[in-house]
Amino acid sequence: MPRDTADAVVIGGGVMGTSIAFQLARQKFGKVVLLEREAIASGTSGKSSALIRMHYSNTSTIQMAWRSLEIFENFEEVTQGGQPGFRQPGYLVFANEALAGGVRRNIELAQSLGVDTKWIERDEVAALAPWARLDDVVGAAYEQRSGYADPYGVAMGFADGARKHGATVRQNCPVTGVRVEGGKVIGVDTPRGPVDAPVVVNAAGAWVNKVAGLSGDHFPAEAIREQDTVFEAEGKGGERVQIVVYDAPTKLYFRPEGQDLLLIGRDNIDPEYVDPDEFNTKEDMKFVLDVISRMTPRWPEFENARLLRGWGCLYCITEDWMPIMDRHPGTAGYFVCTGMSGHGFKLSPAVGEMMAALIMEGRCPEPAIRDYRLGRFSEGHLMRSEFDRGFQG
Ligand SMILES: Cc1cc2nc3c(=O)[nH]c(=O)nc-3n(C[C@H](O)[C@H](O)[C@H](O)COP(=O)(O)OP(=O)(O)OC[C@H]3O[C@@H](n4cnc5c(N)ncnc54)[C@H](O)[C@@H]3O)c2cc1C
Repeated sequence: MPRDTADAVVIGGGVMGTSIAFQLARQKFGKVVLLEREAIASGTSGKSSALIRMHYSNTSTIQMAWRSLEIFENFEEVTQGGQPGFRQPGYLVFANEALAGGVRRNIELAQSLGVDTKWIERDEVAALAPWARLDDVVGAAYEQRSGYADPYGVAMGFADGARKHGATVRQNCPVTGVRVEGGKVIGVDTPRGPVDAPVVVNAAGAWVNKVAGLSGDHFPAEAIREQDTVFEAEGKGGERVQIVVYDAPTKLYFRPEGQDLLLIGRDNIDPEYVDPDEFNTKEDMKFVLDVISRMTPRWPEFENARLLRGWGCLYCITEDWMPIMDRHPGTAGYFVCTGMSGHGFKLSPAVGEMMAALIMEGRCPEPAIRDYRLGRFSEGHLMRSEFDRGFQG
């Protein structure tokens, strides 16, 4: 079997692996090889709602989202042709009395970092969401430049961009072995032959521990099942939802899908731990009915909506529902980037830059990659958020 060599192997062709490979190739790290067991974006990334917003509770996460926004807005130029399908209809985070304090704190922190966000009162919310019943809503965070993108287009854009900078992207090429010798990673095995490399990045998303197991490792991240739904939803006067909403009181998020559909998801309130190779990829009727029962009080005319489709897919979560981006504590050259906990899409452009800095320079002080270190779990220094379960704002 042919034996290949590389300066870096990246495992996983989701938005994380492609973004990391792109940055390493763009910054001329050397020969970069991206290995994806199926197709680009065939894992979580391709099933993502792909909402993009800055509303977070931590300085480094806000900085990551803010930097990523800049890349999304200039994606075609940055990646030399990538098509992210980025739409910016604006983003609202609804707050009731109990949640308003947390939303306002997040806005103040983001504003102190230069982010374009503001608190708006209920009458201004009503002007942006005329279809909504807002009795319980006292106001919202409003981000004018936020919205959603096409996760497939983003992953493909990064992968093609990496290729344009000389990287090799191999699809249908699972990593079947990670070789370690003398405390250092020395390469990987695949059905198409081994690739020798002094740097290996495990960006296998929900499969992180399947890959980690190949070298007898385990990282503190778990695969859980997540669901999403798409409805045909139109008010009696033909009105549609034309803005992105995280409805914190009902725990729903929704956004336009194409011209006339509405994509709706819910916080992952009751995690179902699964084997990422064996789980139900269809939506449950229980979940659909729960979404309807939460949505109808917010938009009474939603009772006429028709379910078009739904799906079951994967989150890779950590204890604090925040990413892991670090080097392996005992194996030189082995890096891990996973545990995006249901909110990683919007961070992926910055994640690529931060991981490339960690790999190439050994550090990334800003945004502080240290916040996402593996050791925080055993140290008991978990990250905190005003909201949890996948929103993490
Ligand atoms: C329903 C849903 C809605 C979401 N909504 C949002 C949102 O609105 N905003 C947001 O920011 N984030 C959102 N997310 C989260 C976001 O999509 C994820 O954080 C992100 O896509 C994770 O990317 P990844 O590259 O880590 O994982 P993945 O996309 O899963 O990529 C990992 C890849 O590794 C590959 N792989 C596995 N094993 C091997 C192997 N042995 N060899 C080679 N390759 C391997 C897999 O095939 C896969 O393609 C959502 C997620 C879901 C499921």
